[in-house]
Amino acid sequence: MVSRVIPVKTFDLVIFGGTGDLARRKILPGLYRRYIAGQIPEGSRIIGAARADLNDEGFRALATQAIEEFIPAKARDAATVARFVEHMHYVSVDATGTGGWKELAKLVRKDVVQAFYFSVAPALFGALAERLHSNKIANEQSRIVVEKPFGRDLESAQALNATLAEHFDESQIYRIDHYLGKETVQNLMAVRFANILFEPLWNGRHVDHVQITVAEIVGVGGRGAYYDKSGAMRDMVQNHMMQLLCLIAMEAPYKFDPDAVRDEKLKVIRALEPVKPEEIVRGQYRANRDGKSYVEDSENPASLTESYIAMKVHVANWRWAGTPFYLRTGKKLRARTSEIAVVFKEVPHSIFGDSEAWHENVLAIRLQPNEGMTLSVMIKEPGPGGMRLTEVPLDMSFADALGDSGADIPDAYERLIMDVIRGNQTLFMRGDEVEAAWAWTDPIIDGWEARGDRPKPYDPGSSGPEDALMLLHRDGRRWRELKE
Ligand code: NAP
Repeated sequence: MVSRVIPVKTFDLVIFGGTGDLARRKILPGLYRRYIAGQIPEGSRIIGAARADLNDEGFRALATQAIEEFIPAKARDAATVARFVEHMHYVSVDATGTGGWKELAKLVRKDVVQAFYFSVAPALFGALAERLHSNKIANEQSRIVVEKPFGRDLESAQALNATLAEHFDESQIYRIDHYLGKETVQNLMAVRFANILFEPLWNGRHVDHVQITVAEIVGVGGRGAYYDKSGAMRDMVQNHMMQLLCLIAMEAPYKFDPDAVRDEKLKVIRALEPVKPEEIVRGQYRANRDGKSYVEDSENPASLTESYIAMKVHVANWRWAGTPFYLRTGKKLRARTSEIAVVFKEVPHSIFGDSEAWHENVLAIRLQPNEGMTLSVMIKEPGPGGMRLTEVPLDMSFADALGDSGADIPDAYERLIMDVIRGNQTLFMRGDEVEAAWAWTDPIIDGWEARGDRPKPYDPGSSGPEDALMLLHRDGRRWRELKE
């Protein structure tokens, strides 16, 4: 197999919030893995920036500790970590003040790729953008990376887009949705658009329905106060699940180019029909002997925020008319699993008569755990005894299929950071996409807030509220089993 990795130019990457949780868990370990892969050119700099009073040594120690905590021992060695952290610097900067900006301006070079990662609260994005300009640090080639959440409704997302646009062109703004950095999500595009096999069947005539599931076993404990202002709709559906839906439903872009791909995704979002209240089930986990209820975790006894949501979504265009997309996501469910399942229709006529073993074909795309794809097909059960049918999965798991190159799948963050350095926006959300997604979710949220809808209680460790099962039962369908 010939693999061609696109080279990276020397860069200065400033991580605002370089001492925070996201930097420690994802960004710094991710950069280390890219360093081992030979993708961080010598001479590149990683500059931590936060208010804490640290120096280069202190930041290197923090990065070393983060790598030791989040990279398995077999994938690191002390000498390489020491060489890697040599690339690190630190400037104490206050996003909303004047301190540190002159030092930062001296450190960031003009003649290399410049990227500024805003790994801080979104309330600080505007201040950072403004100061990068007023201190003449950023230029027309600089890139900024912004984290989720991107707004909490259409109005706030528009305001944020407008603030960033005062200082940066859209081509410089990289809005992260880390789901787009997952190997399987990109492979979904490869499977769809690099094979002739699926396209003739990829429509409402042959696809019965699509299920998109993102299930977690953990509750909101620890970040309950933040989550309570958000809920499953804002935290998961408006961004991650919407992006997955787009990649399944979109037309073939004319080429694999950032705007061509994002134009097609935008058309899908615009084609989404408003969702009827009876086609949404909101849930909230209650207490059991193993743990607290949602209202205890969020410390808001009157909370009406959903920790679970299931919904039936229609994409109103020629390709998908009549094919529902069922989305569900929740906390404290039976299993930690993220999956897209494309469930095909039954054969028009069975020449084998009725068979208990008979199942429709399903293309299942697993995002976690064990990223991979399975296509279930019917075959004859081997051996004598007549024509008995059985379902077998054609497993396309990367680790097995690709040998060593597939076993070490890069984390979404490391891939996305390298795409920023390369200047490739394909896997980042464009401003109009984010706004269109909020324009679709806002009326749904406004509706349940105006009605004062109470989420349905569900047991921790279950598959969610009973009503969510009914959402599919009514249509003669059922959810795929939640299992790891
Ligand atoms: P965090 O742990 O609270 O870290 C915040 C960082 O920002 C710290 O380094 C903090 O350092 C710095 N900071 C705060 N105020 C500042 C100021 N005025 N000027 C300069 N630096 C300042 O937050 P986080 O979890 O890393 O999250 C960062 C961003 O990523 C947020 O937008 C969050 O929504 C997003 N995100 C996080 C995760 C995650 O898993 N953590 C996942 C998805 C998205 P000082 O206090 O020293 O200044």
